[in-house]
Amino acid sequence: MKCAKGDNFSEGSLVPFGNIEINPFATIINYGQGIFEGLKAYRTEDGHIVLFRPEQNAQRMKMGADRFCMPSPSIDQFINAVKQTALANKRWVPPLGKGSLYIRPLLMGTGASLSVVPAPEYTLVVYCTPVTNYHKGALNLKVESKFYRAISGTGGTGGIKSVTNYAPVYAATTAAKADGFSDVLFLDSATGKNIEEVSACNVFVVKGNSICTPEANGAILPGITRKSIIEIALDLGYQVMERAVSLEEMLDADEVFCTGTAVVVNSVSSVTYKETR
Ligand code: PMP
Repeated sequence: MKCAKGDNFSEGSLVPFGNIEINPFATIINYGQGIFEGLKAYRTEDGHIVLFRPEQNAQRMKMGADRFCMPSPSIDQFINAVKQTALANKRWVPPLGKGSLYIRPLLMGTGASLSVVPAPEYTLVVYCTPVTNYHKGALNLKVESKFYRAISGTGGTGGIKSVTNYAPVYAATTAAKADGFSDVLFLDSATGKNIEEVSACNVFVVKGNSICTPEANGAILPGITRKSIIEIALDLGYQVMERAVSLEEMLDADEVFCTGTAVVVNSVSSVTYKETR
């Protein structure tokens, strides 16, 4: 699906998976003008293919596109593109309980610009692959005390799913994985005392009947799974609070778990913090 600046997105077409051509001056590869989403299609017991709340991904992509000065497809266009991709790849959706089809819509500045200005042209590509569990079993998290995510704070880009938010975690996650951890939990850059999120999922802390999760204040991604879990927990009678959550509070919790499209809901078996700053 393509769009020149100020235009609407064209309808686009389904093409076999393969490499894409890109102008070396494209703003996505030079300046990170790109936003993506991640959704899953599941097969139901009676063989239907279902998507999990795609309208929320469409809304979140719109938010990110606004922040990065990009036009975005309409909600209907986004959902339609995702649906068509899922249906065209129906045979790759695993049976119920055996995994899902991960679908990745990527909106990018594909027009050329040498100066740091928004691209004159944009492309939305949607691609997919079957997936199983992102992590095997419960997570043992390392609390990162050397690097911040570099996306945090008011006015930053932590609240959008921008391509620029992910490479900043590589140094921390690569080192943590080499030490046997499953993933890294990042702290806030303002105080270094409050928890934010794991490299690609949100985090919840349970104490008795109350469940806390860091507030979506622009420093963390407002996860779609996070929102669903908050709704379910409230329905089940838990007290749910979205607020600053200190690392201390987490270390004293009854339970910790993570949520995200990839991890779904994953329990945390240990949290390790070693001051290295
Ligand atoms: N935080 C980050 C940094 C993520 O990449 C993701 C995955 N999209 C999440 C949280 C969880 O969001 P969602 O539940 O919408 O997948």
